Amino acid sequence: MATNWNICSVCDNLQITKYSEVWCSECDEGLCGECKDHHAVSNASNSHETVSITEYRKLPTKVLEIAQTYKLHNEKFELFCRKHDSPCCKKCVESHNDCKSLTDINELIKNVKTSNAFYEFEQTLLEVVENIKRLNTNQKENLTSLENKKRKIEAEIKQTRTNINIHLDKLQDGLLKELMTVEEKEKSKIQNLLTSLQNKEKGINELQENIASIKQHASELQTFWL
Ligand SMILES: [Zn+2]
Ligand SMILES: [Zn+2]
Ligand SMILES: [Zn+2]
Ligand SMILES: [Zn+2]
Repeated sequence: MATNWNICSVCDNLQITKYSEVWCSECDEGLCGECKDHHAVSNASNSHETVSITEYRKLPTKVLEIAQTYKLHNEKFELFCRKHDSPCCKKCVESHNDCKSLTDINELIKNVKTSNAFYEFEQTLLEVVENIKRLNTNQKENLTSLENKKRKIEAEIKQTRTNINIHLDKLQDGLLKELMTVEEKEKSKIQNLLTSLQNKEKGINELQENIASIKQHASELQTFWL
């Protein structure tokens, strides 16, 4: 990655340190305000497009690394080797002697920003963004519906519990009522029995009194005929 964005290369060559304001990709160097003006009117460079340093720094690292490879041989890339899938400068070409498919890189990169491939790439990215948005919405909807389902089941469990409670209460009431009825019935039976026993006791007592009085006051004959 280029490390000299901040320093104007032209001034640096003259041993002066000035901060650069713009970046020229053609020259692959930063330029201070003064050198920028010279660069803009000089015949050699007046067709170069420059970009402000702040904007240039925002480019992805990968793009900045591409700019740096220019510096390997201090030459511009002029050809592209399809066999090795790499751009070559005049000096690189020596190592591609056997390669037959060397193309003029300017032909290759001409209008690349307006090419179909670039457009399709942009469209693909748009589609991916759309897909991610859709997935995001779907998953959020799933979360909500999951929450709703959980709440519904929770309510059902509570309702079932209430129903069971009501049923058990009814069962208990019924059993207690039945128990009370049985008790009342048995109680009255026992009371009837007690009354009849009392009556019998009373009868026997009277009989005993009679016998005692007979024993005391009646004659043997009277007693015999009794
Ligand atoms: Zn300068
Ligand atoms: Zn330039
Ligand atoms: Zn080279
Ligand atoms: Zn090659």
